[in-house]
Amino acid sequence: MSRLCFGSLTMGPLQANLSLGEGSEIMAHAFRRGINFVDTAQLYETYEYIRLAALRSGVDPVVSTKSYAYDEKQAAKALEEARRMLDRDVIDIFMLHEQESRLTLRGHRDALEFYMGQKALGRIRAVGVSTHNVEVVDAAAGMDGIDVIHPIFNKKGIGIGDGGANDMEKAIEKASAAGKGIFSMKPLGGGNMINIYREAMEYVLGNNSIHSVAVGMRSVAEVEMNIAVFNGVTADPGIQETVSLQNRKLHIESWCEKCGNCIRRCRQEALSMKDGRIAVDAGRCVLCGYCCAVCPVFAIKVF
Ligand code: SF4
Ligand code: SF4
Repeated sequence: MSRLCFGSLTMGPLQANLSLGEGSEIMAHAFRRGINFVDTAQLYETYEYIRLAALRSGVDPVVSTKSYAYDEKQAAKALEEARRMLDRDVIDIFMLHEQESRLTLRGHRDALEFYMGQKALGRIRAVGVSTHNVEVVDAAAGMDGIDVIHPIFNKKGIGIGDGGANDMEKAIEKASAAGKGIFSMKPLGGGNMINIYREAMEYVLGNNSIHSVAVGMRSVAEVEMNIAVFNGVTADPGIQETVSLQNRKLHIESWCEKCGNCIRRCRQEALSMKDGRIAVDAGRCVLCGYCCAVCPVFAIKVF
């Protein structure tokens, strides 16, 4: 599959909330241009974009998805949802979403064993874990049955929960040497390194233990810019300018009810209550949009 993986979170309801028509056409464009690997999740609600993009382009991409399921019942529901909504019998990669430690891996053991069993039955091709933590990459490197690891990795170590870029690099190297497939996420730290875009991308692309890199995209310009850097060429100046104008931020709307759900949900500890308002620490926020999913009044969004 392509080294550039289409991160679909950015176009879905948690972020840009593109129409199905617009989002699926951008993704179809990426497929026509040779990207044939997509990252999604039960949380992202982007299965429909992927199904439509495959139909529009005639390309059947490799799909990686993930769920927070921790027992067999939830895992079975998540797998069936993915198979039905993506309209495919086999899911290429199914992962445990956002694992934080050895302890959480143990706590999700039933779901993991269910996915392994489904792999034996031919309904999943590879089983994996996604994580922001070095400890999980290190642990998963030694676990039989885990084929793929999806770690956060970027030049400044933004979003790594328990160490820096060097610590994650060592764990990734160990996991890759142990035969795990590695596809990393957030090479720009959730958009925080857009001002050093090329340098940040080249840092991740220079790591040969990383087999593919998921990059969130929500416009044709971003697709073209990423294809250029992955091919080691310079993008058209017009495209570069368009992308630099698309800097994303976390916005909190005036109708926020200050329930605190978003603060409790953020594992980067980027949110706090200050002077009766939700405050964002931009240095910690990786623009994952996960806080947006728990807001009862849709008052917090990444765009
Ligand atoms: S979850 Fe929504 S309503 Fe609650 S504090 Fe956060 S932004 Fe405000
Ligand atoms: S504040 Fe929201 S978008 Fe930023 S890191 Fe936390 S959960 Fe993700």
